[in-house]
Amino acid sequence: MTAIELRGVEKSFGASKVIHGVDLAIEDDEFCVFVGPSGCGKSTLLRMIAGLEDVTAGEVAIDGQVVNDVEPSARRLAMVFQSYALYPHMSVKQNMSFGLRMTGTSKEETERRVLDAARILQLDGLLNRKPAQLSGGQRQRVAIGRAIVRQPRAFLFDEPLSNLDAELRVQMRVEIAKLHRDLGATMIYVTHDQVEAMTLADKIVVLRAGRIEQAGSPTTLYADPDNTFVAGFIGSPK
Ligand code: ADP
Ligand code: MG
Repeated sequence: MTAIELRGVEKSFGASKVIHGVDLAIEDDEFCVFVGPSGCGKSTLLRMIAGLEDVTAGEVAIDGQVVNDVEPSARRLAMVFQSYALYPHMSVKQNMSFGLRMTGTSKEETERRVLDAARILQLDGLLNRKPAQLSGGQRQRVAIGRAIVRQPRAFLFDEPLSNLDAELRVQMRVEIAKLHRDLGATMIYVTHDQVEAMTLADKIVVLRAGRIEQAGSPTTLYADPDNTFVAGFIGSPK
């Protein structure tokens, strides 16, 4: 089944068109990576899927339903940003619970989900700490935990590791791959890092100046790039 579909999606900011007719299907439980140089439109595309930006033309569909006019909160997608935006005065546990309690989930159910997510993310011993008492990697895990407890239809990651140092990035990359296996959830992951794309993706979407240059498995893109841009970015020289 197709989880998320883009049909002829375009975006303009004023007179400037930054996304040009994007067609894309993301399947159930697929790990889909958007990759491309800075400014090519990765975040804009993700934000349109999330409903944080209107589409100028075309359609975004989730589970076959067009959601162009559906509020972000009703799309049941969870977005994880590079800036963790944790509440500094709240504990890890409160940070993870807060959004859920707001939507009316019971105290017991919230507690159960937070403990589950903490176990998956190895945050068990840290639930009473404040963000300032955590490392960068631990904070990023809390941000991911906050998404997990909402049990979203899909996870949207916008360069979640770009604030971390090189060693931690590798470690978190492994953890995100594991998270995908454990949860079996649909994930869209934005990065400008080719290695992250190659190691995490079921499907890589290579973007350039608001257009899809090529979409396919890491093996396909590496072995059989459509053009020199894709080859230069991901694949072997052609
Ligand atoms: P990426 O995430 O790939 O670095 P973005 O999606 O952030 O790229 O940006 C794509 C293009 O759209 C860029 O040229 C950027 O300057 C422009 N852009 C993004 N957001 C806005 C905005 N709110 N207003 C005007 N231009 C924008
Ligand atoms: Mg971006």
